[in-house]
Amino acid sequence: MSEQPPKYEQQLRQQLIDYAIKLNSSGLTQGKSGNISIRFDNGFLITPTALSYQQLTIEDIVHLQLDGLPAIEGQRKPSSEWRFHCDLYQHRDDINAVVHAHPDYCTALACTSRAIPAFHYMVAIAGGDDIPLAPYALFGTEQLSHNVVTALTQRQACLIENHGLIAIGSTLSESFHLALEVETLAKQYCEAIKLGDIKLLSKQQMTEVIAKFKTYGQRN
Ligand SMILES: [Zn+2]
Repeated sequence: MSEQPPKYEQQLRQQLIDYAIKLNSSGLTQGKSGNISIRFDNGFLITPTALSYQQLTIEDIVHLQLDGLPAIEGQRKPSSEWRFHCDLYQHRDDINAVVHAHPDYCTALACTSRAIPAFHYMVAIAGGDDIPLAPYALFGTEQLSHNVVTALTQRQACLIENHGLIAIGSTLSESFHLALEVETLAKQYCEAIKLGDIKLLSKQQMTEVIAKFKTYGQRN
């Protein structure tokens, strides 16, 4: 980029770098396996491919339009997973940030073709009575994007089979903290499976939880 972006855009780019670094420090991901984005200016800003988060500068962040084309010439290549970020912004007017990672417990469940059922009332934090599993497709493809958008029709998070986790929200902070919560639930579910039969909550019980989350605006 030859010119510095305006201050607001600089802040968004820096926020993306800060949360990319947090992806590693929180244990949600290791190395460069995650990617995050934030809605901006008829498109979105996303982490680039193949750069370690610690090295990122605001000029490395990539600006794509909602049609997937670069908004700026000469910028870096976006994350190879840019397509599902793009399609989620197109399909979900209510969201402004996407966090994708391969955290250990979510990925372990996804590699055994498991969604997260209503084993704990906090599962409702993702918007329903389960955290669904999007079927496997090759990373970076339209098919994977289609599977993810479908799984997230009425949810704020899903697992991706043989792959990892996606969390979406109205802010980067919300999406990031949802990703952390889902990884905690995945860990608890993995531990509970080891102990034997799990008592699942009923549809009615989960409906009550979802209603209470909405009424009180709090989740514990
Ligand atoms: Zn991935």
